[in-house]
Amino acid sequence: MSKQLILALSKGRILEETLPLLADAGVEPAEDFGKSRKLLFDTNLPDVKLVVIRAVDVPTYVQLGAADVGVAGKDTLLEHGAEGLYEPLDLEISRCKLMTAGVVGAQPTHARRRVATKFVNVARRYYARQGIQAEVIKLYGAMELAPLMNLADEIVDIVDTGNTLRANGMEPRELIDEVSSRLVVNKASMTMKHERLKPLIERLGRAVESRRGETQA
Ligand code: AMP
Repeated sequence: MSKQLILALSKGRILEETLPLLADAGVEPAEDFGKSRKLLFDTNLPDVKLVVIRAVDVPTYVQLGAADVGVAGKDTLLEHGAEGLYEPLDLEISRCKLMTAGVVGAQPTHARRRVATKFVNVARRYYARQGIQAEVIKLYGAMELAPLMNLADEIVDIVDTGNTLRANGMEPRELIDEVSSRLVVNKASMTMKHERLKPLIERLGRAVESRRGETQA
């Protein structure tokens, strides 16, 4: 196994919050992501490279060892499953909630509750735990539209401010899980590259702590 470390980062809002933490931990991309169409980047450290990919793909890259380390939202990890992955650190960024939501005041109209979501595994587990019979429908976007069009009684989605729900006449209902971004590590890499990974995880841990101190001050 090569001693090079590959870090898989989630594109988009998680990336924006991950880069300052990585910089605090001593890892910086060698070039500006925004100005490039590349997907694989060098860093200031000769043995560390970054890949920037869709958030849903990060657990797969890390689980299968294409990347040693990744940053992924807890929502994505809950949906993907944790096999082959360690989750040593809560980065405490990109916080939001996985929730059920529905049209304000509306009651379910389907005998078996219809739930639209991209988090089908999370939703199936949640409704089973609640003892509610649910038919889970996979959608890839615009979940808020499903109850308005009577495709579903409820949705399971990420809620931050709740503005998207309110703008569509919907309300958050039950909390399924609190979400933040996590550092994940391939299990084999954790053993084989432990000497290289340990200081990175520790430095990131200190960066998270010092940010926590700043926000509480
Ligand atoms: P809001 O209107 O603030 O409740 O945001 C809702 C939408 O923003 C959700 O449907 C998500 O697509 C997206 N969102 C909010 N927070 C996050 C996050 N931490 N990670 C990924 N997507 C998010």
